Amino acid sequence: RAMHEAKASSRQIRVYEAGLGHEGPRRLTLAADLRVALRERTLAVHVQPQAEPGTGAVLSAEALVRWSHPELGPVSPEEFIPIAERNGLIGELTGQVLDGALAASARWRAAGQDLGIAVNLSARSLLDDDLVDSVARALHRHGVPPARLTLEVTESSVMSDPARAVAVLHELRDLGVRLSVDDFGTGYSSLSYLKRLPVQEVKIDRSFVIGLREQGDDVGIVRAIVDLGRHLGLEVVAEGVEDGDTQTVLSGMGCDLIQGYHLGRPMPAEEFLPWLAARAAAARPQRLSLA
Ligand code: C2E
Ligand code: MG
Ligand code: MG
Ligand code: MG
Repeated sequence: RAMHEAKASSRQIRVYEAGLGHEGPRRLTLAADLRVALRERTLAVHVQPQAEPGTGAVLSAEALVRWSHPELGPVSPEEFIPIAERNGLIGELTGQVLDGALAASARWRAAGQDLGIAVNLSARSLLDDDLVDSVARALHRHGVPPARLTLEVTESSVMSDPARAVAVLHELRDLGVRLSVDDFGTGYSSLSYLKRLPVQEVKIDRSFVIGLREQGDDVGIVRAIVDLGRHLGLEVVAEGVEDGDTQTVLSGMGCDLIQGYHLGRPMPAEEFLPWLAARAAAARPQRLSLA
């Protein structure tokens, strides 16, 4: 056990020596290792289903990047996306996720499943000069109709350079892709801003959706966002739906799509068609043999 600890601490020393700059040592290590992961294309794309709350019909999925670090194990995108942004790696990362997501979408189409796919854009990648062209090229390469791709942006990513961001969103819109405001309600959301963004969808942040269980203020907030979306002609997606009661409440409110652990956890993109098939088989009425 002592030896184990000694080993662990010597590794820590090695890691710490690397970190002499203003960024923390872990962050520096992650930045270097993320560069390698991108070069070797070892990041994975997982997908999480999205369904109509009333019927349970699965219409689309969100792509979520996954990184299993060779020594540290899984690292959360909440940790490494900001690192990618600060180290000039976000353009490459976004490109690889888009590529993996559209490749999956193309496979699903080939299997007769006409499903949408959503990809997250970080603040920095939204301002990348090459973004619009690279999205256009990726759609073309995979033969996916632009209307089947949704790009998710957060309010705060738009606010860092609103004029520029809105111009880029219009260019993306001109390609025919759908646009969504992710984590709605958490940023400096100004309602007049939402009206000016060329988006087709809002995603209610999961912190409010999880709060639906408590029957408190979040019920009113979620209802208000669903109504706002409807008045602006936007589709409303609720993320973080963890139980059937929450799904029922959202269905009653008129929410268009739900996403969350109750419907399905994020899974490797290759597992999505088998998951859909298993779900369809389970939903089929059981035929009892009366003979
Ligand atoms: P997000 O885009 O809001 O994604 C939803 C997050 O909620 C995902 O976390 C998902 O795994 C998690 N989630 C889904 N259903 C539930 C649920 O029922 N309960 C709870 N508690 N959580 C749920 P994940 O995958 O860790 O991603 C975190 C964030 O990292 C994402 O938030 C997104 O902002 C960012 N991210 C993930 N993949 C990418 C990517 O490819 N590119 C960029 N730029 N950002 C990404
Ligand atoms: Mg998202
Ligand atoms: Mg979200
Ligand atoms: Mg979120």
